[in-house]
Amino acid sequence: MSTERTFIAVKPDGVQRGIFPEILRRFQNKGFKLVGIKLTLANESLLREHYSDLQSKPFFPSLLSYMLSGPILATVWEGKDVVKQGRVLLGATNPLQSAPGTIRGDFALDMGRNIIHGSDSVESAEKEISLWFKKEELVEYKPTLHGWIYEVN
Ligand code: GDP
Ligand code: MG
Repeated sequence: MSTERTFIAVKPDGVQRGIFPEILRRFQNKGFKLVGIKLTLANESLLREHYSDLQSKPFFPSLLSYMLSGPILATVWEGKDVVKQGRVLLGATNPLQSAPGTIRGDFALDMGRNIIHGSDSVESAEKEISLWFKKEELVEYKPTLHGWIYEVN
């Protein structure tokens, strides 16, 4: 059974526009297991850690104010190849280059309003999960549908 985990966050625009139930549904429908979820307000130091690789980019100040503009729905999902598959569900960073059928392709137009974050590697997923969640906020359980989603238990 795969225990790979990824960090998926619905950004403030995705929360305010009410797109988050659709996003949860897409991850659930694919077969992934929700192991952590909370509505939270970010703060600047957390975001500087979270986006530490982007600090020198010209768009960083606007990215900070975007991510501070309202509540974020922080989630952790578990399952087979979930980091890479999660990025496929998200679509490209630029929504104009995201294929229809992806979350950004279906619901967004601007890079600075692309509604969702997803970890880009197993290493960044581990870093991001520990940044946004305490260990005790993540739940271990076996979903009743497990055997209908995975051939091998
Ligand atoms: P992601 O992993 O697909 O979210 O993309 P990155 O890690 O490269 O960038 C993080 C976030 O910064 C993106 O999701 C966008 O919201 C924002 N961003 C990235 N590149 C640009 C850009 O060129 N312009 C603007 N305005 N925002 C950007
Ligand atoms: Mg990224």
